[in-house]
Amino acid sequence: MPIPTIYPLDLNFHNTLTSIASYLIPHAEGGVLVECGPGSTLPTMQARLKDHNLTPQDITDVFVTHIHLDHAGAAGWFANQGARIHVHHVGAQHLLDPAKLIASASRIYGDKMDELWGKFLPVPADKLNILHDEDEITVNDLVFRALDTPGHAYHHMAYILDGVCFSGDVGGVRIAIPGYRHLRLPMPPPGLHLDKWRATIQRLQQENIHHLALTHFGIFDDVEWHFQAISEALDAADAWIRDVMPRAEKLENGEISKNWLRKEFMAWAKERALAAGLTEDLLNTYEEANPSGMSADGLLRYWRKFIKE
Ligand SMILES: [Zn+2]
Repeated sequence: MPIPTIYPLDLNFHNTLTSIASYLIPHAEGGVLVECGPGSTLPTMQARLKDHNLTPQDITDVFVTHIHLDHAGAAGWFANQGARIHVHHVGAQHLLDPAKLIASASRIYGDKMDELWGKFLPVPADKLNILHDEDEITVNDLVFRALDTPGHAYHHMAYILDGVCFSGDVGGVRIAIPGYRHLRLPMPPPGLHLDKWRATIQRLQQENIHHLALTHFGIFDDVEWHFQAISEALDAADAWIRDVMPRAEKLENGEISKNWLRKEFMAWAKERALAAGLTEDLLNTYEEANPSGMSADGLLRYWRKFIKE
């Protein structure tokens, strides 16, 4: 099937190619972005828009799949240039007032915060369009459908445009490199929920999707393989955490060491990647797009809240 004109913009996050994408869809009065990346990649973003003869003021609409910094950090800046920002209703408050989000990210990234993510400006209320499941949004001749898709975060939307699904993080992390098919799941706290993620994938499988546009990274047409790979990765993560936690508790004498779990997880993820034929270099690219320490923390929280008796 023909796909609408969609340009992946590589934001070269942290000087790494194929880490964070934004998608540009031109229309008669300018362009739409799906995902806008963090504040730190705005110079690259502006250069990529210029490649398409567009200025930031030409962007009429920005759809963010969720409010994590790598997807929505630059939303406020685009709103100040005149764009309308579309976001899941649960995430909306954090775009209106990002103080809490910035504070919790600062606890994780410390003095690297600014260098990594740049400024996260608030979105003015009159520029925010708050979305619910199955909302349809028309921009010029483009019609987007928003699907509430929890699992990676509570506040996650996937967007469908003419059979192309912009799957945010619920579509996993997969880098388009010839000769490899390897998918990883970003599983950070606090929103990770393996069962909700499974239900999301089952729902997406019912949709008539012929291409997936992943934020991390690229457009794929082997949709069936991809959804199957997500399901298998969910099952594998579930089995891993159930297997490792009883041992972790014994090891730490009742106290679970985050660092120990991170190391275990990293070794496990690496083994899976090498089995898929990845080189160490590629592994680093995956690690940049999807730090495995975060997934270990997410799984730990999920296990405590939803699995442990
Ligand atoms: Zn995310």
